[in-house]
Amino acid sequence: MIPVARPLIGREEEEAVLAVLRSGIIAQGPEVEQFETEFAAVCGTRYAVAVTNGTAALYLALLAHNIGPGDEVITTPFSFVATANSILMTGATPVFVDIDPQTYNLNPDLIPAAITPRTRAIMPVHLYGQPADMAPIMELARRYHLAVIEDAAQAIGATYRGQPVGSFGVGCFSLYATKNITSGEGGMITTNDPAIAERLRLLRNHGSRVRYYHEMLGYNFRMTDVLAAIGRAQLAKCDRFTHRRIANAAFLSQHINHPTVITPFVRPDVRHVFHQYTIRVIGDRDAAIQQLSAAGVGTAIFYPLPIPQQPLYRQLGIEAETPVTDRVAREIIALPVHPGLSEEDLHQIATAVNELQIREPALTI
Ligand SMILES: *Cc1c(COP(=O)(O)O)cnc(C)c1O
Repeated sequence: MIPVARPLIGREEEEAVLAVLRSGIIAQGPEVEQFETEFAAVCGTRYAVAVTNGTAALYLALLAHNIGPGDEVITTPFSFVATANSILMTGATPVFVDIDPQTYNLNPDLIPAAITPRTRAIMPVHLYGQPADMAPIMELARRYHLAVIEDAAQAIGATYRGQPVGSFGVGCFSLYATKNITSGEGGMITTNDPAIAERLRLLRNHGSRVRYYHEMLGYNFRMTDVLAAIGRAQLAKCDRFTHRRIANAAFLSQHINHPTVITPFVRPDVRHVFHQYTIRVIGDRDAAIQQLSAAGVGTAIFYPLPIPQQPLYRQLGIEAETPVTDRVAREIIALPVHPGLSEEDLHQIATAVNELQIREPALTI
């Protein structure tokens, strides 16, 4: 079976970890600081702050803007649940705006109707590695004095009109095992604002600048030097990995040719880094997944249930009309696109899709 995701860990990561273990400094230390400097350079930002994971990155980014109870944050219903959960963690309320049917990202045309006097921020997600439509989002943020917190967990290296994601507002990245680069678990927050960077460092470390003196309530969300060493080795390979993902996606889109399968749309003004290569199947999706599996092709559904329909959100009474999301969530299938695929794998994946026998959906009137 060709797996839908596979971390690529090599000698460089192994040696970097051994060097840290032998150095005696294994908690947050010089590797973390180096990693932050290198990460900020990739994102074109002045600062990067390393944390334990992508969820912590989102949570701290919100707290750094003083977002909390009584506030509203506009976000997408079509993401990993961590996006909206980070808003709940602060005590604020997520307000869901439906997605664009081609990119599956937040539809900026629908944002103005969701803005209220309580709105404090917009949290777009660069889903599957394709940047959200940042120009109108930044324009709305300026007009209504809103913070922009980018969930860039899936999008390191992506650009919108030539500008790296994570450099528009405050960027939140994940280094989880299946992301484009990984440290096993890990997160990074990017910003150009020195005051936000300062608050993030305090929030990550018990509100402490000087050891055992605490200015504010903070957490222990520090990254370890062991993981930073893995992250640095991965970051050095990021561009090579990304080129492979983009080439693999181009191959699949060229070779997939099935009357009821839609290949991913790529905006002409972005660099889509293909964290996922997601097709839409018009017809019986379960049958399609079974047939792909029988043909040795691993698949996944990101994500089967829109966030507002998750039991947690229903219990909280957070309602949202998101017809585009609802439909897309029923039709999408992620295929393998990771840099570990061989040309033979790619042929096998495209052939398996082209040979799908899927019943046409019943006509709906
Ligand atoms: C992975 C992911 C997160 C959470 O990151 P973790 O490191 O797993 O906490 C948040 N948002 C999106 C869109 C993700 O894909």
